Amino acid sequence: MDTTKPQRWRIDHDNRHEKPQARTKPERRLAIGTAGNGLFALAMTIGTGEKAQHFGYYVRRIAADFGLAFHFEKFRTEQVEGEPSEYDVLIDLQRGHHSCTCKGNTYCGHCKHVESVLALIKCGKIAVPSARPQAEPEPIEFDDP
Ligand SMILES: [Zn+2]
Repeated sequence: MDTTKPQRWRIDHDNRHEKPQARTKPERRLAIGTAGNGLFALAMTIGTGEKAQHFGYYVRRIAADFGLAFHFEKFRTEQVEGEPSEYDVLIDLQRGHHSCTCKGNTYCGHCKHVESVLALIKCGKIAVPSARPQAEPEPIEFDDP
């Protein structure tokens, strides 16, 4: 083994070229309230410390032709006059097409509503019916009336 390699000097220039603070995604936290009548409370915190933003919604599962649909309604205390306070979120796990009726999703294609639902699905807080239908459905026995 060659151990005689000359030591490489690392030259520290002045810090002119130091990158500006890396832009990392703000930390996001979610808290989910107990579900009752298919309704649950969702508290969102984006960012930390003084810059943290809080959002609260009542979320209700709604019927959808395909995928999972949720109706978001801002906590009354957070509603702003003249701004929409209700959104419909549609999660299509099979095709990965998620949508929301909020402005952010309409213009950017993603938003915190969709992302929060996906996060809750990922950690098992929202039950998702099996994406793949069973090849052989189990026969269901029932008594004739
Ligand atoms: Zn949205």
